[in-house]
Amino acid sequence: MKKLILLLFFISVFAPVAFAQVRVDLVLGNPSNATAEESNADNYLVFHSGFVLSYNKSRGAANWGTWHLSRSDIGTVDRSEAFAPDVTLPEADWRIKPTDYRNSGYDRGHLCPSKDRSSSEKSNKETFLMSNMQPQSPKLNQKTWKALEDYTRQIVEGGSEAYIYAGCYGEKGTIKDKITIPSRYYKIIVVLPEGKNDLKRIKTNTRIIAVDMPNEETINLKWRTYLTTVDEIEEATGYDFLSTLSKEVQAIVETKKDK
Ligand code: MN
Ligand code: MN
Repeated sequence: MKKLILLLFFISVFAPVAFAQVRVDLVLGNPSNATAEESNADNYLVFHSGFVLSYNKSRGAANWGTWHLSRSDIGTVDRSEAFAPDVTLPEADWRIKPTDYRNSGYDRGHLCPSKDRSSSEKSNKETFLMSNMQPQSPKLNQKTWKALEDYTRQIVEGGSEAYIYAGCYGEKGTIKDKITIPSRYYKIIVVLPEGKNDLKRIKTNTRIIAVDMPNEETINLKWRTYLTTVDEIEEATGYDFLSTLSKEVQAIVETKKDK
């Protein structure tokens, strides 16, 4: 009895706190169980107002980023171009500088795109933090990856909202021994009609766009070439995406490929 009372006490005290802290961009889960502890330097949880990252100090970039996109996020603010070190990272040696990519042959590619945060100068500026940047091959960044970013905003502007995960894996070299150049970039986009109680509305027929692209100049310009399944991305990364959905729903939506 004593144990039960103690248990009920803990549930009543901590459960509301735990639920209240789930931000909209983590509604579909924390794929690598990133935490905001300095000792967890290669899977370090970073909260910014417009997106969440799992930062990897050894790689000098994020493992993944996630954000929610709605019509109200897309505005008319110009790209800030204010590339800057992310001073919210614990120590100076965790932080990549804008100049670190210089002469590397790689673009500073956004995880959360500038245009997805263009309703205010403040939200746009945040997307130029170097923790949101990835070494992307110019053709990937400027063509194929961008085409999917544009397509996603087009769907959202048509009356949908989206939960987006973007990340990388593999290694094809480094920039100055400081930044790992990933061999692949993936994206998972969950599309819902605009509405409330999103988690409850995700069913086995919910549209999910998953892609896995090579970080190469030889990339095909059509993003649909790289359609894959969430399961394939989970297999490649070892992460669990959409972990807040029931096992039954995950089992179905994670094996479907968008057309
Ligand atoms: Mn880009
Ligand atoms: Mn999963």
